[in-house]
Order: sequence, then C-alpha cells, then structure tokens
Amino acid sequence: MPVSSERCRPSNACPIRDDGDFVLYWMTAFRRPFYNFALQRAVERSLALGKPLVVLEGLRCDYPFASDRLHRFVLDGMTDHMRHFAAYPVLYHPYVEVGSQAGKGLLEALAARACLIVADDYPAFFLPRMIAAAADRVPVLLEAVDANGILPLRVADRAFPTAYAFRRFLQKTLPGHLLDVPLADPLAGVSLPELKSLPERITTRWPHADEALLSGSPEALKRLPIDHEVPPAPIRGGFVAARETLARFLDERLPFYDERRSEPEGEFTSGLSPYLHFGQIGSHEILGAIFAREGWSPGRLSPESRGKRSGWWGLSAAAEAFVDQLVTWRELSFNGCALGELNDPWRALPDWARQTLARHRDDFRPYRYDLQDFAAARTHDPLWNAAQRQLRLEGRMHNYLRMLWGKKILEWSAGPEAALAIMLELNDRYALDGRDPNSLSGIGWCLGLYDRAWGPERPIFGTVRYMSSENTARKFPVKGYLARYDAPES
Ligand SMILES: Cc1cc2nc3c(=O)[nH]c(=O)nc-3n(C[C@H](O)[C@H](O)[C@H](O)COP(=O)(O)OP(=O)(O)OC[C@H]3O[C@@H](n4cnc5c(N)ncnc54)[C@H](O)[C@@H]3O)c2cc1C
Repeated sequence: MPVSSERCRPSNACPIRDDGDFVLYWMTAFRRPFYNFALQRAVERSLALGKPLVVLEGLRCDYPFASDRLHRFVLDGMTDHMRHFAAYPVLYHPYVEVGSQAGKGLLEALAARACLIVADDYPAFFLPRMIAAAADRVPVLLEAVDANGILPLRVADRAFPTAYAFRRFLQKTLPGHLLDVPLADPLAGVSLPELKSLPERITTRWPHADEALLSGSPEALKRLPIDHEVPPAPIRGGFVAARETLARFLDERLPFYDERRSEPEGEFTSGLSPYLHFGQIGSHEILGAIFAREGWSPGRLSPESRGKRSGWWGLSAAAEAFVDQLVTWRELSFNGCALGELNDPWRALPDWARQTLARHRDDFRPYRYDLQDFAAARTHDPLWNAAQRQLRLEGRMHNYLRMLWGKKILEWSAGPEAALAIMLELNDRYALDGRDPNSLSGIGWCLGLYDRAWGPERPIFGTVRYMSSENTARKFPVKGYLARYDAPES
C-alpha cells in the first residue's frame, strides 16, 4: 500500500529530477526507522526512480532551548540509527552543527544532486517555518509527509473546542483510517542501488557527526554552543530505549493505568512522551502493541460515536483510558497546531476563559514570584518546589503534578499573560517532551483551554478550574515524592 495522499504535501512547485543521484529523506521530527510514513514514502520514491536513498538527520545548535539535555537525547537516537541503517542499502548521514549557522547550505548542496526531498511534516515549534523556507530554496520537489498520529492531520478541517467534541469526530472518522498503518520496517527486504559516499566537497564541510559526541562524551557535548546549564536527563534517548520503555509499560504498568495513573508517587504512566516528542516512537507502534496484546480486531469498535471516553475501542478499561490520552488528547493538540489555532496560546483560549482571567487580572496576590524564583523552585509550597526540582533534574514531571504546577504559576504570577510566558519558558527549557503541540495544549489547559467554566468564581482564577497542593496531598500520598525531591540541588 503506498503512503496515502492525505499524508503527503508538496511544499513547493519544483519538479522531480529523474537524472538526480539519489532520493533524499531529511529526518527532522520523526526520528525513527520504524512505523514512519515519511521514511516509507522516501523508500517508495527511491524504488520508483531506481535511485539510492540518502537519509540526512540533522541537529542544529541554535534552535530555542538547545541544551545538553535535548542534544543528548537526539544524539542517543542518532547512535541507534547509525547501527540500524548500517544493515540496509541506505546512506545515513548524521550531521551535528558545531557552530551557529555551520549547517547552512548543507540541504541545498544535497538538493543540487537529489531527485527530490522527502521531509517530516510536524506542526509545531520552528519546524514548519524551517520546512517552508527550505522548500523555497531548493530546485527539486520537497514533499512533506505527516507521520504524526493515527488520524492524518489533513482529515480534520476544523479545530475542536473540547476533547469531547474531538472524540466524537474521531469516533466517526477513525474507522476509515485505522487500517492505514505504516510499514513496521519500510526498508525490510527492499533492494535499492547503493550510494557508497557523499561527494567529498559535502562531507568535508558538513562531516558525519563526531564519534565522541555520538558515544556520549560529556566533553564533546560541552564544546557545542548550547545551554550547558540544563544537564542530560537520566534516561537514554533513541528508538531502542523507546521500545524498551513501551515493553515495560505494557508488562508492568498498563493494567493499573485507569485506576492509578494520577498517583504522583506511582509509576503507572508510560513515560513515552519524550520519545513521542522526538519521533523516536510512533503512535501506530504503540497502538499496534496494545491491539496485539488484547487480540483486538476492527469488529470490536463500537458503532456509536457519542464521544464517550471509554467503551468505544472495545479494549480493556485500562487500555481504553491510555488510548484516550494517546489518541484523543494528543491528536487534539496536533490538530490545533496544524490549523494554526494553538500558535498564539493566549488567543487560543476560549472567550470565557480570557474574559474571566482578564476580569481578575488585578486581584490581590498573596504570593508573587518571577521567572527566576519559579525556575529555582523558590516558592513557599514544598510540593510545588519538589515538582519543579523533578523537572529541572529529570526533564519530566508527573501529569497530575504538571496540572497543579501550571495552576499555581497562574496564581502566583503578576498576571495570566505573565503566567503563560513563565510556563512555556520552564516547560520548553527543562522538559524532554517540551516544544510540542502537547506543551501548548497542556499549558493552555491550566488557563481554561479545552475545559469549561467551574464555580464558584474565585480570586485570580475567576471561573477557571482551581487546584491546590493541599487537595492533592489529601487525595494522594505525596510524602515519598516530597522526600525524593526535597533537597535543593547543589
Ligand atoms: C502544564 C502542562 C504542560 C504539559 N506539557 C507537555 C509537553 O510539553 N509535552 C507533552 O507531551 N505533554 C505535555 N503535557 C501533557 C501530559 O502531562 C503529558 O503528555 C504526560 O504527562 C506525559 O507522560 P506519559 O508519557 O507518561 O503519559 P501517559 O499517561 O502514559 O500518556 C501516553 C501519551 O498520551 C499523551 N498524553 C497524555 N496525557 C496528555 C494530555 N493531557 N494532553 C495531551 N496528550 C497527552 C502523551 O503523548 C503521552 O506520552 C502537559 C500537561 C500540562 C498540564
């Protein structure tokens, strides 16, 4: 089955050059060799043209929030790719910028010899602008391919105000798309002409990423002009670690997901969001693994499309709860970004939320902190400080505490717009999964996005849903969590 046209978007009007030397797959967002429609499309093109395939995976050093943490995670993935692609008839070129703008010109140099470029069509961060700018500069077709989620982004032509509304839409629309699954390994059994090397002129100026950097050398990382204040996270990046994380989740945590996922001290969620963010694993692989475990078939889908949170997929209650997060909530934000609705997170809020927050903008705030206080976990609230320390140290935060974290930033900042800016800054700087459509939706949710008004009307929040550390501590045990993240970092 060829990759469906709903997922492929020509980004310029340039031709395919039949006499080019190779097909170029420019991997920027879907950093994985498996279940990847973009790689699959590039293989299709190579086979049709009878040309070699070059995979260029780049890592810039001047993107917002570039740090040891984010770089290490991507570099781990590149190491996996080097080993993986070595077994296939593909030329893999990992390129890591060693100075600002050093990579400029590489894509054009490759494009000058390519038949066409296949690129990743990701709807957030600086990536849409980068792809559009590149499409204008190259002389061949640049085709952007959507491997983001289960529903192709172009199927929904409107944004949705709530998860409920989106779920109803999915329940009507998804059955036609569920069987359109990317190939597990698009290079398996494929025979392509091989390109032994790129021209020396290219590899001299834009060499293969340094071995020391790829193998994890902290010194090599320190030489790059990125933020060294944000250290590597304790977890490893790359598709190998992503697959291990998925297997562990399915074996040990999924059965408890619906009942216990909100416990801050429990580890009952998947921990997959960093891998999903960097495209090191795709939703199809995750969903497929759940389907396989539960012996699922399309006949199990409910014919109803009432937007109910459970019972539609025909899976166990735990799996339904998980799939609702992975598909409904995740793809809601991808839909919002693809349609440009989430790009300005303040404007993205529903009218009632913007109005109620504006009405309470000048309310007295018993506690007021600025970005530095928040970043350093210097508030009066031990639970909040512990959550912020976890984010700084580990690049992650439990979902329940993440909601509380955002609500308190709203309560303790100078105003809602300042709170929004602080949340975005801290989340995108420290969280491995930040800079994602889910970052915008999660942070927006703290201010009323995809939610409804809640009474009673309160100071600062107005009718935006309120949360408190005291309630959290009443609902769940948090002593162990507090002890774990209590000590300020040295
Ligand atoms: C203030 C705030 C900021 C957030 N920032 C981010 C972010 O930068 N990146 C990010 O991926 N998520 C973000 N979220 C959503 C959510 O907290 C994380 O997706 C989740 O905690 C990731 O952990 P997990 O992979 O173990 O999730 P699981 O519970 O195992 O869920 C599986 C997957 O479903 C998706 N998912 C789960 N919950 C949500 C949700 N509420 N909204 C959208 N998708 C969801 C994620 O892709 C997640 O990896 C944020 C939420 C809040 C309240």
